[in-house]
Amino acid sequence: MTIRPLRATHPVLALAVAALAACTAQPHMTDTDTLPQAAAFDVAGMDTSVRPCDDFDRFANGGWKDNNPVPATESRWGAFGILAKENLEVKVKSIIDTLMAREDPPKGSAAQLVGDFYRSFMNTTALEALGATPLQPWMERIDGIQTLQDQAALAGELARLGVPSYIGFQAEADMHNSTMNILYAGQDGLSLGERSYYELTDSTMLHIRQEFVQHVDKMFRLAGLPETGAGQAILGFETGLAKLQLTNVERRDPSIYRKISFDDFAQLAPQHDLALMARSMGVQTDTLLLEDRDYITHASAYLAGTPLAILRTWMKWHFLDTYASTLNEALNAESFRFHGTVMSGTQEQKSRALRALHATDGLLGEPLGKLYAEQYFPAASRKKVEDMIEHVRAVYKEHIQALPWMSEETKAKAQEKLALFTTKIGYPDTWKDYSMVDIRPDALFQNTMNLNAWHAQDNLVRIGQPVDRAEWGMTPQTVNAYYSPTMNEVVFPAGILQPPFFNPEADDAINYGGIIAVIGHELTHGFDDQGAKFDGHGNLVNWWTDSDRANFDSLAQQMISYFDAMEAMPGLYIKGALTVGENIADLGGLTLSYAALQRSLEGKPEPAPIDGYTWQQRFFLGWAQVWRSNIRPEALRRRVEMDPHSPARFRINATLGQFKPFQDAWCPEGDGAMLVPDSARVVIW
Ligand SMILES: [Zn+2]
Repeated sequence: MTIRPLRATHPVLALAVAALAACTAQPHMTDTDTLPQAAAFDVAGMDTSVRPCDDFDRFANGGWKDNNPVPATESRWGAFGILAKENLEVKVKSIIDTLMAREDPPKGSAAQLVGDFYRSFMNTTALEALGATPLQPWMERIDGIQTLQDQAALAGELARLGVPSYIGFQAEADMHNSTMNILYAGQDGLSLGERSYYELTDSTMLHIRQEFVQHVDKMFRLAGLPETGAGQAILGFETGLAKLQLTNVERRDPSIYRKISFDDFAQLAPQHDLALMARSMGVQTDTLLLEDRDYITHASAYLAGTPLAILRTWMKWHFLDTYASTLNEALNAESFRFHGTVMSGTQEQKSRALRALHATDGLLGEPLGKLYAEQYFPAASRKKVEDMIEHVRAVYKEHIQALPWMSEETKAKAQEKLALFTTKIGYPDTWKDYSMVDIRPDALFQNTMNLNAWHAQDNLVRIGQPVDRAEWGMTPQTVNAYYSPTMNEVVFPAGILQPPFFNPEADDAINYGGIIAVIGHELTHGFDDQGAKFDGHGNLVNWWTDSDRANFDSLAQQMISYFDAMEAMPGLYIKGALTVGENIADLGGLTLSYAALQRSLEGKPEPAPIDGYTWQQRFFLGWAQVWRSNIRPEALRRRVEMDPHSPARFRINATLGQFKPFQDAWCPEGDGAMLVPDSARVVIW
């Protein structure tokens, strides 16, 4: 939460990739026992006292849910988290242990970088001796700001170190010319993440804001900073800033970005020197893609109308918030109390050793990933997954051809896009060079700063350069997958190609409900509400006829309305418009993988039931097993506000309720609280 490497998933660019799941706050328990090898399906985890079509999540996962409460150190707990825990605490940990056992590794080698970073995280003697003193030179520089010009220069310099300001910059493939990278500029700077946290007036949000004010005040005291009333000042300032920002639903539309010359961009904010800010960050460019010009104009005027004393306090706060976890235990614990407990409901902080693992994986994930891939990804898996993807692609091709709502003209374009999809499986072929980063065993704050600066530089040097198609947006050990609309590619890191997602030992029906549905999910992202606006070459080009696009939008709107009616907890409804892309991908993924399973069985004898369940039923048990989870109410609320994915329970029940083969498999008479009548069914793919 507080270490913010500038990676492809940095929130500056709301559209960078469509991942399978939100970044998993990686999991943990204090014991390090390994997990039992996943059986094909966990029958003991079911609750058969519930009727499957009333609540399939409960039916398939009820026993598991009862026996697997969220651990004190987590905000949610499920298949993703458990696999990620095993991956990190057993596999990545053993790599780190091996690296740390090497004596006198050469400076800049993986063993030196990883070993010394980990040591610096564990070096509590040094951390306590330093206290908040590493902040001092930076706080003095912020205190030295006398003009808005000074503010712009320092804000740019701090952005390079991962400290947010009201505008964020990031280089990515140009959505209008996808072979070249361009600078994107968009809104940033809200400590609570999203404008709804400043605007909603229900008791939960009022409580969060009250806690935030106290938290900021306490952090300033612990850091020995003299400001009083900082919390109220920052909440007041950010509330004003939030009013000027787009909502996360508005940010889903890629067509809001406008290409603008750097000179014109600098003119947008006469009160604040954007050119100076960008150059201080290290940006060199003639053009950029701007998310919302009105925001820049209004926010810069807002900044100019704010007393410099408040801006200085705000900058100090963001610096402190960004680097708290690299300082002494008092600051660290208070930062966790707010971000972990207040915001997400997590009761206890992970042990320092586990936090060291997470931080090392977060900032040096690629050197670790190279070793992870060598040790833990069998070469044979790549071929197997490639075959599965081609299998789903072939089914998708047939489905597109048969769509009743799409014209032949648009179908031809859709087929072209489908044929141009590329894939990445397991791990990258090339690796970044971290050897020049200075990492020392007793300097966590400086190490983190150096790595943040390295990541920022690694990103910004791409501006104006051709896109490197070999580059990955996730490390190999990540338990997740993504679709990139500008690359038109699906990416499956080695981390997700394990049970319960992919289990070479398991029966086919379970794998089709798991990894193959995930593959289908990622492929259909190329055709969701965002992806459908990009062509097969990754350019933002409208390849649809108007009437086909209207048909698609109307189907998407039905999905939005359907999910808008889902109550995640009393009074808190899913945001259908925020989650529509993921919901379409879930329904599409299931549709394609189910069809692929059917096709794989053609001409073969009907598979026998296992544990009394037919192959059709097991397919849906596989899907439910992938998404089984428990979540704390605070975390659930945060996800509903922020996450483009529906909560796991709805990825199971709401999606399956729409899907006719589910009804056929479990309750052909059509009797069940989850089920949608045929007249209200949405069939897109
Ligand atoms: Zn997705």
